[in-house]
Amino acid sequence: MSAEKARALVIRQVDFSESSRVMTLFTREFGKTGVMAKGARRLKGPFEVALDLLAEIDVVMLRKSSGGLDLLTEAKLVRRFQPAPGDLLSLYGGYYLAELLEALSVEDDPQPELYDAAVATLSELSAGRHCFAALLRFELIQLRELGQLPALEGCLECGVAFPANARIAFKVSQGGFYCPACSELQTVSHFVSEQTIHRLQALSHPEIPLAEIPLDKPRMAEARSLLTACIAQILGRKPKTLRYLPFA
Ligand SMILES: [Zn+2]
Repeated sequence: MSAEKARALVIRQVDFSESSRVMTLFTREFGKTGVMAKGARRLKGPFEVALDLLAEIDVVMLRKSSGGLDLLTEAKLVRRFQPAPGDLLSLYGGYYLAELLEALSVEDDPQPELYDAAVATLSELSAGRHCFAALLRFELIQLRELGQLPALEGCLECGVAFPANARIAFKVSQGGFYCPACSELQTVSHFVSEQTIHRLQALSHPEIPLAEIPLDKPRMAEARSLLTACIAQILGRKPKTLRYLPFA
C-alpha cells in the first residue's frame, strides 16, 4: 500500500461497524474510490472533521493494490456543503449530484474537469443561485465526459443546422436531434424547440455565466426531460433522487 494525498468529495457513506464508516470518495486525482474510515463514528475519532455527505476534504489514504477499500488515514475539511436555507432544489440538487457521480463514474479513472464542475455546481447550489441551470450544466459536462453528450450542432443524419423556431425531434437511443425532413424516417422520443437546443449548447460551455442563459419555464421543462431521458438510457433507470427535486 502507498500513502497518497488527494482532494475529494464525499459522495456516499455507510456505517460499517460501531466505530467505522465506509465511504465513496470522488477524488480529483484518482477519480472514484472506496475508503474505510476506521474510528470515523467515534466522538473523539482520528479525523478532525465530520465526514458529511458532499463535504470537500483533503485526505491521505493508503491505496489498495487491487480490489478492496483504501484506508483513510487523514482528513481535513476544505468546505462543507451547506444548502441554501429553505431551498429544496439546493438541498436535493446536491444529493442528485452525489448520485450521478456515484452511478456514472468508474473507479480509479481521474476526471479532474468533472471534479471541478461538481465543486462549481455545489457552490451555485449553496448560494441558491441558478440551481436549476447549474444542475443541467453539470449533467451536460458529465455526459460529455462519458462521450454521451447529444450532438447539439445540427441534424444527426444530414448535418443541416436546425431551422429557427422549429420543433426538433430527438432520439434518445442515438443521442441526437433530427431536422424536420430526416425525423420523418425516425422513431423519435422527444420534441424540443430549437431555442432549447441553443440553451443546452450555452449550458455545455462552463465559461458562459449561468446568469446570461435565459431559461423560461417551457425551455427548462424540455431540457430537464431530455437530460433525464439521456441519463436514464445510460443507467437503465431514472436516478433515484430525481423524484425529490422540486422540478421533476
Ligand atoms: Zn436532417
